[in-house]
Amino acid sequence: MPNDTIAILGIPFDLNSSFLRGPSLAPPRIREALYSQSANMWTENGIDLGLSQGWEIVADLDFSKSQNAFEMIESGMGELLETTSEVISLGGDHSITFPIMRAYAKKYSGLNILQFDAHPDLYDELDGDRHSHACPFARIMEDGLVQRLVQVGIRTITGHQRELAERFGVEVIEMRDLGEVEQLSFDSPIYISFDMDCLDPAFAPGVSHHEPGGMSTREALTIIQNLKAEIVGADIVEYNPRRDPLGITGMVAAKMLKEIIAVIIAQHS
Ligand code: MN
Ligand code: MN
Repeated sequence: MPNDTIAILGIPFDLNSSFLRGPSLAPPRIREALYSQSANMWTENGIDLGLSQGWEIVADLDFSKSQNAFEMIESGMGELLETTSEVISLGGDHSITFPIMRAYAKKYSGLNILQFDAHPDLYDELDGDRHSHACPFARIMEDGLVQRLVQVGIRTITGHQRELAERFGVEVIEMRDLGEVEQLSFDSPIYISFDMDCLDPAFAPGVSHHEPGGMSTREALTIIQNLKAEIVGADIVEYNPRRDPLGITGMVAAKMLKEIIAVIIAQHS
């Protein structure tokens, strides 16, 4: 794969979910929505993804063998990053971002994360599990894998997580303060970790944790399209097709995928 081709990787893994399973089913459903005959492949900034050579879907990770899942994610991501500069992963619960960042930190120093989420995911442990989907950003920060972690859309922060955010220097932009955000800028590369539940359940009901008071699809797109930063990768996590009988949330996930691809391709030219 050419170095400037964005790899799109499915990660069908949800064993670290605390409440419901389902995000392991997400990768094929997001691809199906992406290619739906109900829409075209043009992005808002004028790129026809149907013709663009700037991105390529690669084979999903295969968790059927009894290998350690986190090791598999880290090594699979590491192998892709040997040939390409940017990977966008589809599916999975949010726990996968920790092994992904372990691979990314080997390639990129001074990396930053922009996390879209209703939840800070900064628990030290949840139900005795330090790798729960409620914990990945505590692991990432304690291992010093990134320079800055900026969270947007947060509306469930607990006292415990507020303490950890402070200890790790996490920049939390709570949902109630979102109106004050005009443009986010970063002076070194960023990775976007997009938890679908950052969106209000009215826009994206197909998630395991319905948390009212979230952002609109448009607000999320505006933040990404106005970023002053070089994007080097992204994940789109926590889409639960079991809660999405009409496929609405699958279309939202596909839209986010299209527009993140579009911003990265625009950065290449
Ligand atoms: Mn999350
Ligand atoms: Mn969440």
